[in-house]
Amino acid sequence: MSTPLLSVQHLTKRFAPDAAPVIHDVSFDVADGEIFSILGPSGCGKTTTLRCIAGFEQATEGTVLMQRRTLSGPGGHVPPEQREVGIVFQEYALFPHLSVLENVAFGVDVGTKAQQVDRAREALDMVGLGNLEDRRPQHLSGGQQQRVALARTLAPEPNLLLLDEPFSNLDALLREETRQEVRQLLKDKGMSAILVTHDQEEALSFSDRLAVMRGGQIDQVGVPEEVYYRPRTLFVAQFLGRTNLLLSHAAGREADTPLGPVKLDRETNGTVLVSMRPEHLTLAAPENADGPVGTVVGRAFKGHDITYRVRCDGSEYLVHTDNRMSHEPGDAVAIRSLEPAVVLESRATPAEVPSGATPEPSASA
Ligand code: ATP
Repeated sequence: MSTPLLSVQHLTKRFAPDAAPVIHDVSFDVADGEIFSILGPSGCGKTTTLRCIAGFEQATEGTVLMQRRTLSGPGGHVPPEQREVGIVFQEYALFPHLSVLENVAFGVDVGTKAQQVDRAREALDMVGLGNLEDRRPQHLSGGQQQRVALARTLAPEPNLLLLDEPFSNLDALLREETRQEVRQLLKDKGMSAILVTHDQEEALSFSDRLAVMRGGQIDQVGVPEEVYYRPRTLFVAQFLGRTNLLLSHAAGREADTPLGPVKLDRETNGTVLVSMRPEHLTLAAPENADGPVGTVVGRAFKGHDITYRVRCDGSEYLVHTDNRMSHEPGDAVAIRSLEPAVVLESRATPAEVPSGATPEPSASA
């Protein structure tokens, strides 16, 4: 594998010598041109990780390398302004008394005044705001202000862009639109970025790869599909979206579950907790059941798809089908799996994890 642009190795940060670490043994690489996200609930250490990369915090242990150059580590600590890293915060902090162009030029501190203005114009063109350079920030929409903040960070031409919840001040529609635009812009320019977010949908749709963080540590790193469909821990399975958990008895690639026999994504034996996303289940007529028959207790029609709640042997399961399948509350149905179940924990599982659907994922989980 070629040298990554950024390599974070065994990063640990304590804010006081005898305090518990806020991040512990965090390691990941970011390739040149890659968009990477750190996803996790509030307080798990995402911003601290980003601040260690930017140089605003000094790591207690571990190293941060940029193209093999040590930014932080036993060899020393490069100050933030010498790291060639740009950071966009949740609060754009634009100067209200300066024009859009002046705000962006403010971020460039090399070259003559005229060269700084040229760089600022290029950055504004990049984010599609070249025609608004004379406006004051307060006369722009939230999405436009966000793009000015991005242009201000892009103008000094950083090697790596750090994005700390940059879309969270935008309303839902604008938020989705802006993040798709920013992703496209970064891809067009071949730029590398790390996004910090507690929003699972944002991380899944914005990133090439993501790290899921919990309690100061990384649970799993992978491409969005892998992390969503093949979670390696109970936390990742629950944090990335709704799922059905089944305490099962595994024998090789198959398991006996409360819904009948299912295939497993890997070979294991004994008592295991498995996860099945609602869209990996479907409903069948009771006479085709190879497990217990359940009853539809809820049906949410969402246009192109339908989510059913099905009660079966005292537990409730979520089943997500397309809109061609129509069942009504009260119908007797069998739940069948379309994909192998994902083994989360290959051991006797604590009793507090019952079989059935998990609650909505929460950013403050
Ligand atoms: P959020 O999504 O809410 O911003 P986060 O995942 O970014 O959360 P951090 O801001 O990195 O989390 O904080 C992780 C933990 O470190 C929190 O418990 C926080 O209180 C603590 N912490 C952060 N900065 C400091 C500091 N300067 N001194 C002491 N503790 C700190």
